[in-house]
Amino acid sequence: MIWYPYEQMKTMKEPYEIVDAEGVYLYTKDAKLIDSVSSWWCMIHGYKHPELTSAIKEQADHFSHVMLGGLTHAPVKRLSEKLAEILPGDLDYCFFSDSGSVAVEVSLKMALQYYMNKGEKGRTKVLALTHAYHGDTFKTMEVGDDEDYHFVLEAYGPKTNVINIPTEIDALEEAFAKHHQELNAFIVEPLLQGAGGMRMYDVSFLKRARELCDTYGVLLIFDEVATGFGRTGNRFVADLVLPDIIVLGKALVGGYIGHAATVANKKVFDGFYSDDARCALMHGPTFMGNALAASVALKSIEVFERENYMDKIRKIEEISHRELDGFSHPLIKEVRILGACACIEVYDEAVLKGYQEFAYNRGVFARPFLTYLYSMVPYIIKEDELVKIFATMKAFFTEK
Ligand SMILES: *Cc1c(COP(=O)(O)O)cnc(C)c1O
Repeated sequence: MIWYPYEQMKTMKEPYEIVDAEGVYLYTKDAKLIDSVSSWWCMIHGYKHPELTSAIKEQADHFSHVMLGGLTHAPVKRLSEKLAEILPGDLDYCFFSDSGSVAVEVSLKMALQYYMNKGEKGRTKVLALTHAYHGDTFKTMEVGDDEDYHFVLEAYGPKTNVINIPTEIDALEEAFAKHHQELNAFIVEPLLQGAGGMRMYDVSFLKRARELCDTYGVLLIFDEVATGFGRTGNRFVADLVLPDIIVLGKALVGGYIGHAATVANKKVFDGFYSDDARCALMHGPTFMGNALAASVALKSIEVFERENYMDKIRKIEEISHRELDGFSHPLIKEVRILGACACIEVYDEAVLKGYQEFAYNRGVFARPFLTYLYSMVPYIIKEDELVKIFATMKAFFTEK
């Protein structure tokens, strides 16, 4: 049987079985649903996009996969060139992997080894944020701040290699003053903390972080697995503040195949570039640089640029404000919007029980979690479809 994610299998309700999908719509045997969460935020072009689908088909006619150990190929070369071209600064050195979690692991491994290679053996700690989510593997859980992993704390006791701070400049300055000699990296989900509750914060925090990282020689890592490719209304948050390493996933491949990239700047790359074999980055996921993934990622980026997706995202943000600003209800704590992400936070998570069925019956697929009811729509969504998502959210409260 299938062991489903994040579910108590004993009590979980039957998942909806999808038989087809096109554009923003998911089809079950008897329902047509707008996907308001883009299949965990990655289907930015919607489903069954003709160009993305044929990019995969064309590549499959040649070869679907060859390993990058001792081999290389045109799609992955072109993707690394394309990423270097569209990413700001000298974020030019692309390490590929098969999922966001692994790509974050790679970034943390890079940061630690960067300093070990330099002989700075005391830099063993990572600074991260409270409410951070960076993936579900062990090191990403450690830098994250998620109560779902209570058993890890129970087993191993409090973390010793990670310091989590809130997104407040005072806390940031204090952490650097106190710990800078032990830090190899500061990792953040820039501007928008996703799985930790769609928390939005100001760019001034990131600017100060960049200054402090420069002052104390700490690497700044942006986990843009969720925010990359437009979600915050910026193409990349790295366009505003330049990190040393950026991690991309989710939308990188338009949601078609699991793939991710850890892209480092020259300074980080040079920390490994040596006559000493022991300075090499020892990592190599089996499916890194998969040819189908690289081909569809290239097509996804081409469509993103050609179809002016940043304009679409601005329009989504505008409509989100028009439809949700000022909406209030005694059960609602806060409504917040950034780019193509909108979130209604309630006081009590019991309130959102039943929302998924409520939305299903109105033709919307949603997956609220804890106290967060949110949308992360495909960028191709039409105005009436977006309005319907927000109308469904509002109706849930006004009909209570
Ligand atoms: C989803 C996500 C990850 C993990 O990506 P996977 O592909 O699910 O492993 C890491 N960081 C952030 C910010 C994410 O949103």
